[in-house]
Parts: sequence; C-alpha cells; structure tokens
Amino acid sequence: MRIVIAGAGIGGLAAALSLEAAGFRDIRIFERADRIRGLGVGINLLPHAVRELTELGLAERVGALGVAPSTLTYFTRHGQRIWSEPRGLAAGYRWPQLSVHRGRLQLALLEAVEERLGDVVHLGHRLVGIDDAEGTTATATFATAEGTTDVEADVVIGADGIHSALRALRYPDDGDPVWSGLTLWRGTAVIDPYLDGRTMVMAGDGEQKFVAYPLENPGPGGRQRVNFIAERRGVGSPDVDWNRSVDPAPIVDLFREWRFDWLDIPATIAASDEILEYPMVDRDALPRWTFGRTTLLGDAAHAMYPNGSNGGSQAILDARTLAYQLATAPSPEAALEEYDRIRRPATEALLALTRRTGPERVMQLARERAPHGFDDIHDVIPQSELEQIAAEYKAAAGFHPDSLNARSSLTVALESR
Ligand SMILES: Cc1cc2nc3c(=O)[nH]c(=O)nc-3n(C[C@H](O)[C@H](O)[C@H](O)COP(=O)(O)OP(=O)(O)OC[C@H]3O[C@@H](n4cnc5c(N)ncnc54)[C@H](O)[C@@H]3O)c2cc1C
Repeated sequence: MRIVIAGAGIGGLAAALSLEAAGFRDIRIFERADRIRGLGVGINLLPHAVRELTELGLAERVGALGVAPSTLTYFTRHGQRIWSEPRGLAAGYRWPQLSVHRGRLQLALLEAVEERLGDVVHLGHRLVGIDDAEGTTATATFATAEGTTDVEADVVIGADGIHSALRALRYPDDGDPVWSGLTLWRGTAVIDPYLDGRTMVMAGDGEQKFVAYPLENPGPGGRQRVNFIAERRGVGSPDVDWNRSVDPAPIVDLFREWRFDWLDIPATIAASDEILEYPMVDRDALPRWTFGRTTLLGDAAHAMYPNGSNGGSQAILDARTLAYQLATAPSPEAALEEYDRIRRPATEALLALTRRTGPERVMQLARERAPHGFDDIHDVIPQSELEQIAAEYKAAAGFHPDSLNARSSLTVALESR
C-alpha cells in the first residue's frame, strides 16, 4: 500500500513510525519546511502517549529527552495551594508522563523514521491540492521551489498542523482558528529547582495564569531548565504563529506581584532566553475527517488549546489507531472510516472539555468563591468536588489509570497477518 503523509510534525512522524511497526513499507512524508529545525518549547506527553511510544520501541530514546513529573499542583494567584495530585508512575500508571522540548522530540522521531524507513522525508513540499475522483487512489499535489509535483497514493494523511491544507481543501469555509481571547507567552529559563524539582505547577485563574514544569533534571550547578507559559486575557492578537518573539518586560510587569515562597514567577519570566507569543486558539470539531482514501490527523483534525497538555499526545494516539486500522480492516476505505469513527468523537469530547478549562476549573472555582484567598481550601471547594473534576478530565482524555492500564494494545501482531 502506498501511503503519503503531509507534514513531518509530531503527528506525521508518529504516523510513519506506527505504520512501519504495523508492517507497511511504502511510506513517504512531504514537509512544507526546507529544514526540520526542531522548533518550539515544552510539550507534555501524557501516559497514554508514552504507552504508544513505548510500544513503538522508543521509550528510552524519548525518556532521555526530558523529565517525568512527579506531581501536578494548582495554586491561586495569591500562591495558595488548591489541589495536588501525583502524575505518571506515582499515580498508578504503567507508563510515565514526560515533559520534553517539542523540537528535541520532533528531531528524535525524525531520527527514528530515518533509521527504520530510510530517506522518506521530502522537505520543501507544501500540500496544495488533492484529487481523489478515481475513488481507488488519491493524488496529492505539492508546491516546491521548482513548481508543482503530483504524487499518487493509496492513502493520503493530512498531518499538516493547525493551518492544514487538506482540511481547508475539504472545508473551504472553515476560516481561521477560533481565539479564546487569551494570549500565551511561552519560554524556557534556567533557574534553581522549585518544590521537589519535578513538579508541574499552575497558578492563577481564567483571567491570568502561570504554568511551569521542568524540562531537565538539575545540572552539575544544581540549576535546571524549566518551561513556562504565562497567560492573560484581553491583550495580544489572534494571529497564529508558533515562533513570534516579543519583549519580556511587559509580561514580567503583568506578574510583578506573583512572588511566592515556592517560586518567584517574575524572576523566572525575566530569566527566559526568548519569549514567544501565541494566541490561545483551537478549531471547531469537524463532522468528518475521512473522505474516501484521505483523512486528517493531529492538529489538522482537532487543534486544541496548547495548555491542555494534549496536542502531541492526541496526535500520537491518532497515529497508532490509524496504523492499526489500516493493518487490520478489510480495505483502506474501511480502515479510514473506522479510524474516524473511533478517534473523532473521542477528540471532540476532549475539545469540549478543554474549552471549559478541563481540570483547571478548580482554579476558576477558587477565584469565584474566595477572590481574596482562604484559610482552608476545603472551606471553598470540598475534597469530593476537587477529586471529581480531576477524574472527569482523565476519563474523557482517555488517560484514567484504570482504563489505560487495562486497554488492549494497538500493536499489530505481524505474524498473524
Ligand atoms: C514550529 C512549531 C512550534 C510548536 N511549539 C509548540 C510548543 O512549544 N508547545 C506545544 O505544546 N505545542 C507546540 N506546537 C504544536 C504541537 O507540536 C502540536 O500541537 C502537536 O504536536 C500535534 O502535532 P501535529 O503533527 O498534528 O502538528 P504540528 O506539530 O504543527 O506539525 C505540522 C507539520 O506540518 C507541516 N505543514 C504545514 N502545512 C503543510 C503543508 N501544506 N504541506 C506539508 N507540510 C505542512 C508543518 O511545517 C509542520 O511540520 C508547535 C508546532 C509547531 C509547528
């Protein structure tokens, strides 16, 4: 089967690796960029995605890139603790959560693709057209520096990100991503470890928030690189560019009061090498991803808010599910339909939850019920309500420990094919 993937991001590369593991060999990836530079800052891989990477034989390679957070703790904008929960292995999962640099993850996946499949990534190829009038094949058209080139395949996968060309070809009226009105400033900084040196923290509420997590274990000098996302409503613009660099001074100023005994937030922002501004955008759910021999995957199918920690993880789950279906369904059309039937409702439910701020709802509740702080969080939000909010999101995102640990594998038994 000839398989063409548009986009060599985390989703496209994970799809190639999943297809290779499921027995496919004729796989080509076409990437718009002339070079894969490994851009971005931090990204979290939740245990359900780490499971898939482990089953692809990538656990050590990816594990070496980052830090497995021990704990997630929510604080108010006054620095008071609301809720804390263990993460990864400490929470009873068979697989850890991993905080990694997005660019290093992308380069590690690219390296694995080249080792396993050879020279299959074609750079400088931008998907611009699709013709599947034949029904039994699909021809993708790519714009290159020399003109355009047509590539015929049995299956075409659009893993071409939030500005997906394949999505726009299928849904010409889709328009721009939807802006929540929040602006994110992302960066990394080398600082003294805070709390236990492996805790992901979120402080604030729906108006203004700060998220941080370590990306490296402490180095010889005892300091470590952390990733952070500062967030504020009512400033910035909806222009979507992952790499727009801005002056840190106004953002440091927005957080000047947020100096806590567990972390000095303005000092962390000021220590950043570079601040990247990004609007908190997503896209509305689609009525279908699959059209005959073509389908969408990752952000192209279901771009979500980046701070839901699910962008990379859901793309990896898509990749594994699609490869499993292509290897086991009676025809490519049936496989793509089944992939759509399984993954689309799952990600649609998650999208709805992330729009309601997912597990971060506890921060908003604390702000609404006790805007000036509290003596005891349980006077404000009962323990049972805190637990229910955390469990609800994990179940919807497919990473409740019980269901993830019990779910059957998406690895294809090649000898039985
Ligand atoms: C430069 C960049 C930086 C990012 N930084 C972060 C970050 O710091 N934190 C975070 O949580 N998430 C970040 N993300 C998003 C995150 O990688 C995705 O949400 C997630 O990994 C899902 O991956 P994806 O493969 O679906 O999309 P992406 O990772 O966006 O990959 C899409 C790929 O398709 C390529 N492409 C686009 N259009 C075409 C076309 N027409 N033809 C061919 N190829 C095309 C793009 O160049 C890109 O390589 C970033 C994405 C990018 C592209």
